[in-house]
Amino acid sequence: MNKPRIAIFDFTCCEGCQLQILNMEEELLDLVSVVNPVEWREAMSEQSDEYDIAIVEGSITRPEDEERLEEIRAHAKTLVALGACATIGGVNKLKNKFDITDVKRYVYGDSAHMPHLNTAPTKALDEIVPVEYRVHGCPINNKEFAYIIRCLLTGKIPAIPTYPVCVECKMKGNVCRFEYGEICLGPIIRAGCEAKCPSGGFWCYGCRGYVDNPNINAAKDVMDKYQKTIDNLRSRMLLFGSKQAQTV
Ligand code: SF4
Ligand code: SF4
Ligand code: SF4
Repeated sequence: MNKPRIAIFDFTCCEGCQLQILNMEEELLDLVSVVNPVEWREAMSEQSDEYDIAIVEGSITRPEDEERLEEIRAHAKTLVALGACATIGGVNKLKNKFDITDVKRYVYGDSAHMPHLNTAPTKALDEIVPVEYRVHGCPINNKEFAYIIRCLLTGKIPAIPTYPVCVECKMKGNVCRFEYGEICLGPIIRAGCEAKCPSGGFWCYGCRGYVDNPNINAAKDVMDKYQKTIDNLRSRMLLFGSKQAQTV
């Protein structure tokens, strides 16, 4: 039986999600035994235009990147968005809140006019092409990645949580960050990370994106209980909230 050909590509990002894949070690060897990797800049020198599955990390921040993504999409039967940059635009979407000329001047100073520094408002992959599978998080959880790829290879739909981070957080017995006077995005963000941040003493900053149909009434109840407002909650969506800013 022919193994499915997999290619991994990256756009604008820190490449930390690819690093998570490399960190899988033995599990990565198991995965590689059932697929045929044909391109992965971070791990091999071969390149190919012939692949069945494209795993794409990073967000799209230049017109030429849109063209490249469309080409990748045209070659792949299945496209997987890897990490928050790819699924929701990630931290790169911060720049969409400002005038792009000001952003370039701030980052590149006197060199901002150079043609190779051209930039455009950031987009997540599915704002340009259809995406079949999403691996959430910044960075991704490599166990969840392996699970999603196994589902893809066996034709199953992965069971990605459709409930908020608070569910996992309460199951862990954490003291709620609101009790410390903080604002946590857990009530409106998709679970699946085992409430990593609240369990480590931080509030959730939303890297897995909004949960499907966030329960705004329940979130309002939490805000009321702690004398906060939905606007306070919205203001916390600075890092990862731009794509779905109107959701809450
Ligand atoms: S999602 Fe986070 S860890 Fe992954 S590439 Fe983007 S910035 Fe890096
Ligand atoms: S609001 Fe944050 S800290 Fe509180 S239960 Fe939900 S996830 Fe945990
Ligand atoms: S708690 Fe929130 S910010 Fe932290 S990993 Fe989970 S979804 Fe991401």
